[in-house]
Amino acid sequence: MTQPVPRSIRRLDDPRAPGAIEITWTDGATHAYSPRLLRDACPCATCREKRAEPARPNPLAVLAPEEIAPLAITGMNPVGQYAYSIEFSDGHSSGIYTLDYLRELGG
Ligand SMILES: [Zn+2]
Repeated sequence: MTQPVPRSIRRLDDPRAPGAIEITWTDGATHAYSPRLLRDACPCATCREKRAEPARPNPLAVLAPEEIAPLAITGMNPVGQYAYSIEFSDGHSSGIYTLDYLRELGG
């Protein structure tokens, strides 16, 4: 069987999941992704390193950026035949999400 590819990508219009996108795959599967899920799973080297570090709690309470402005997906562009680069409203855009990885995240 050939690898399923996205047949359509649309922005979900669901107030419970602001900014979420939905991918319908060629095998009929449908998966929803919130901007936060995709951002936290960013596969770029910087984010992978950051996730591997032990969390250092900040002694001062801070407002998380997403409490000031909700995180949004501002762009999603195909990279070759098998991946997308995703751009977020926090300015981060170096993650390349392969189709395999997106399937895994949506599973
Ligand atoms: Zn990243």
